[in-house]
Amino acid sequence: MSNLLNGIEDILLMGPGPSEVPDEVYAALGTQTIGHLDPYFITIMDEIKAQLQKLVKTSAKLTLPASGTGSAGMETCFVNLIEPGDRVLILINGVFGMRMQDVATRLGANVDTLEFEWGTPVDVDAVKKKLDTETYKIVAVVHAETSTGVRNPVAEIGTLVAGSDTLYLVDAVTSLGGIDVNMDKWGIDSLYSGTQKCISCPPGLAPIAFSDKAVATLQGRKTKVPNWYLDLTMIINYWEGHTRAYHHTAPINMLYGLYQALDLILAENLDTVFQRHLENHQALVDGLEDMGMQMLVEKKYRLPMLNAVKVPDGVDEAGVRKVLRMEHKIEIGAGLGPLAGKIWRIGLMGHTARPENVRRVLAALKTTLGR
Ligand SMILES: *Cc1c(COP(=O)(O)O)cnc(C)c1O
Repeated sequence: MSNLLNGIEDILLMGPGPSEVPDEVYAALGTQTIGHLDPYFITIMDEIKAQLQKLVKTSAKLTLPASGTGSAGMETCFVNLIEPGDRVLILINGVFGMRMQDVATRLGANVDTLEFEWGTPVDVDAVKKKLDTETYKIVAVVHAETSTGVRNPVAEIGTLVAGSDTLYLVDAVTSLGGIDVNMDKWGIDSLYSGTQKCISCPPGLAPIAFSDKAVATLQGRKTKVPNWYLDLTMIINYWEGHTRAYHHTAPINMLYGLYQALDLILAENLDTVFQRHLENHQALVDGLEDMGMQMLVEKKYRLPMLNAVKVPDGVDEAGVRKVLRMEHKIEIGAGLGPLAGKIWRIGLMGHTARPENVRRVLAALKTTLGR
């Protein structure tokens, strides 16, 4: 074969991301490239900021898509807010909380953690106890822990932080576009996401939002932001103001794709989108339980877009995933860390969350497990 791309098969993406991409988004990605300082492009950038503000429910002016995947969003939030020695509390119940700890530690922060069993949510009372006796510059938590399928109580933790000098930093990579994310109401100061989960755009951009309080912290830094590429004090001059200044060349076509993906979500209506995720999640769980399988997470903490199901005793976890991928052309995810070999992670993210996909994965699992 002369061109490797001709060998790409139509695989149904039902893992922990990337998710299915609508045709309109593929078309947007292939639109004519224009200059990153072209006045028409700046009009599109301004619209993307407005779309993101609607999606994360914020009036925060500093809301924009950072260049890079969700992890670049994580890095952007931490690197712009942390100075060496700052006290940071990270709430950990999965892979992405651990990644936050790694990122904050590398920046020279003085990091404390509270850890909770994987598959269970962060315990608000434990956080309250900690905050009653200790003071932190930042408290950070993952809203939707993609490694386990747990929804963390972001609103409740927000009430503990509210009214203090502490900044509240939230990972909304998997939650955004699939369940409600309400930045202003929940008192979130710094939030990041990614495009390839429930936004259903290919990976490559990381929406971020900083509250006025976070911006004041950024502007009051004693030291320069230690990362040039992600330094918001410079990036802001490209995304805001009457005259725009070059920082790095924006990933122009990725931004077309994000614009189109956000347009689809907002046109469908946010509440309708969340309801669609919930209904397909319920149908999937019902189907799995009918087959005698058990979910990892207790019902009230389950994420609709990431379904962690226990691998039945005696079943070859990786073997089943291989058959799904090779014979049924469906990708699902494996467990990570302590859950490796013990669960499958079935994604119903964004455009993937549709009844025909739920039926297809259930039918494929049934045939495969029946062997
Ligand atoms: C996927 C994910 C990330 C990392 O995003 P990348 O796009 O892989 O860099 C961070 N946090 C959560 C909760 C995620 O699901």
